[in-house]
Amino acid sequence: MGNILVAGGAGFIGSQTLLSLAKDGHRLTTLDNLGNGFADNVLAGEFVEGDLHDSALLDQILAEREIDAVIHFAAFIEAGVSVKSPMDFYRNNVAGSLNLVQAMVRNNVRKMVFSSTAAVYGQQDQFDLLHENLPKQPINPYGHTKWMVECMLRDVAAIDELETICLRYFNAAGSDPEARLGERHNPETHLIPLVLDAARGARDNISIFGTDYATADGTCVRDYIHVSDLADAHGKALGLLLNRNESKTGFYDAMNLGTSRGHSVREVIETAKQVTGIDFKVIEQSRRAGDPARLVADARRAKEVLDWQPRRSDLKTMIADAWQFRQNL
Ligand code: UDP
Repeated sequence: MGNILVAGGAGFIGSQTLLSLAKDGHRLTTLDNLGNGFADNVLAGEFVEGDLHDSALLDQILAEREIDAVIHFAAFIEAGVSVKSPMDFYRNNVAGSLNLVQAMVRNNVRKMVFSSTAAVYGQQDQFDLLHENLPKQPINPYGHTKWMVECMLRDVAAIDELETICLRYFNAAGSDPEARLGERHNPETHLIPLVLDAARGARDNISIFGTDYATADGTCVRDYIHVSDLADAHGKALGLLLNRNESKTGFYDAMNLGTSRGHSVREVIETAKQVTGIDFKVIEQSRRAGDPARLVADARRAKEVLDWQPRRSDLKTMIADAWQFRQNL
């Protein structure tokens, strides 16, 4: 058990993780600037509204609450947007993380679970599954920022100031089983919520961005992973860090969180039609900038190191859970 600071805990994956950590008995503080999160997503622990650039606030939280470990979700995440607004991403994701790590080191808080992403791999179509050790070749600013932060964490671990596990998520989907916490980005850019909006009539159609990729049906392939499985992995990574005995040595590890199964954009759309029982209009458009054709995880490492298994991550279940949430919006 520990005192845990969850930066970005009011977002989609962070809020789900709070529920999982609360069940494990941790005492939780969420720090979120509500740029993309929602205060009513924080269903466990205390909520502090604030920003990673606020060093005084970070010092105060880390010291007064005797924080043992940080889980760091607070970042911009839309790959397509990052191509258009790169500096916002570098400021928020890289400078914000640097400020957080500096505050941690100042306050002797050594342990961090970091939200990383499959976007660090970029376009590596010669591999069916992406292994953690592949060269990191992001093709959009979002991926660059996440890889830069991973490098920073690894370098700080190398001077024994930090113990960190970087979890490289593939495509998060679904909602909590009670359909309270789902994707609600503004504006929404992610495939599954947009497809479900087409199903519930909140938009006229869904666009497929690119039908000429070198994949089986010409559309991009992604490895979708249920948000409750992601939450579970954070609890396990945190447990591993809290139980480490070599408290004076640094530690860095990075692992993929995915299923090793890829689904194309067309497959997601067809499955959504089946799950909802609703037909809707599909429009074929040109490619979106910054999209790799295929991102599918080699997920063995997380299974070995964390003893973690995805449990709700079949496509139908994820879309059905997301649909429950989306209909309540
Ligand atoms: N996509 C699409 N239409 C949309 C939104 C997304 O065809 O309205 C595609 C997108 O180009 C990508 C895949 O769906 O190939 C997954 O995109 P998403 O934004 O959900 O996640 P990403 O993989 O970018 O993190």
